[in-house]
Amino acid sequence: MRILGIEGTAWAASASVFETPDPAQVTDDDHVFIETDAYAPDSGGIHPREAAEHMGEAIPTVVETAIEHAHERAAGGGVDGSGKTGAPIDAVAFARGPGLGPCLRIVATAARAVAQRFDVPLVGVNHMVAHLEVGRHRSGFDSPVCLNASGANAHILGYRNGRYRVLGETMDTGVGNAIDKFTRHIGWSHPGGPKVEQHARDGEYHELPYVVKGMDFSFSGIMSAAKQAVDDSVPVDDVCRGMEETIFAMLTEVSERALSLTGADELVLGGGVGQNDRLQRMLGEMCEQRGAAFYAPEHRFLRDNAGMIAMLGAKMYAAGDTIAIENSRIDSNFRPDEVAVTWRGTEES
Ligand code: ATP
Repeated sequence: MRILGIEGTAWAASASVFETPDPAQVTDDDHVFIETDAYAPDSGGIHPREAAEHMGEAIPTVVETAIEHAHERAAGGGVDGSGKTGAPIDAVAFARGPGLGPCLRIVATAARAVAQRFDVPLVGVNHMVAHLEVGRHRSGFDSPVCLNASGANAHILGYRNGRYRVLGETMDTGVGNAIDKFTRHIGWSHPGGPKVEQHARDGEYHELPYVVKGMDFSFSGIMSAAKQAVDDSVPVDDVCRGMEETIFAMLTEVSERALSLTGADELVLGGGVGQNDRLQRMLGEMCEQRGAAFYAPEHRFLRDNAGMIAMLGAKMYAAGDTIAIENSRIDSNFRPDEVAVTWRGTEES
């Protein structure tokens, strides 16, 4: 099976070819190709209009590159000898949401055009469920709790009765967005996360508000307090260290509570903030202490990427979970718990 995936919810114009003999599990014959063109704002954070302009320019190119790659794989017979004749792909999967509406519309239009060009089905993927599923897929875990720590989102998910339930989430801004707003305030270029990670290594811990309410968390107060601290001449490295320790301790506390409440013994990490080494270590230590397994995918699968869209697209396609073009409208507020999880039933039956 060879699936084309297209991602473009915010900054990453990305296309992927995922080829596998068995979408239910990782095999030695799996092949993943990802082509990404990233939008980097000249100043400030992500401007929705500029992001859409970038998407409009970059998506046709990355998609054509991926299609060329699929043709090459098909000409070579691919992993199962399929595709020597006819279409080089079996289906087109695309990110339907959540994300910036103008960006999503460009991605959906491209996906529909490619599906019609090769006369193959369309698969509409929830971007946040894809962040989760790429970790579940690559870890081989059965029923993990998932912490999605990304730019625009932050939530903890667990699977129950055919859906990924939101066990806890941010009450205000996404976790990466909070970090980026702080770095914008001090004049650092976007994205701020990697710079905070680098500066935190040289800093002393500076106390910031720790806000966990039940299973939910809040980041806007930390962001304001961090900005104020720098304005009050607290060394920036110390504030970065305080931000990391505070935010990641909150995420770790809620992840542990979710493991405890659900009785799960597996945790997977998803999202761009998940690339942070300190966050991975805190989660890993917590899991080790309670005898749970922890998995963080490679960085290229944590930040936004079309590989995760193609991988979940393959599972959905195998489960017959495709959509007609007339029903393929985007959903910029697409929540993970709105998705009927069709593919796990197929795997587990
Ligand atoms: P979403 O997936 O919710 O749509 P997004 O589109 O912003 O979010 P992601 O690629 O998941 O995209 O995450 C980007 C975020 O990750 C940015 O806020 C960035 O600052 C943050 N980030 C990247 N690297 C690191 C790091 N090493 N430490 C902390 N944060 C990081």
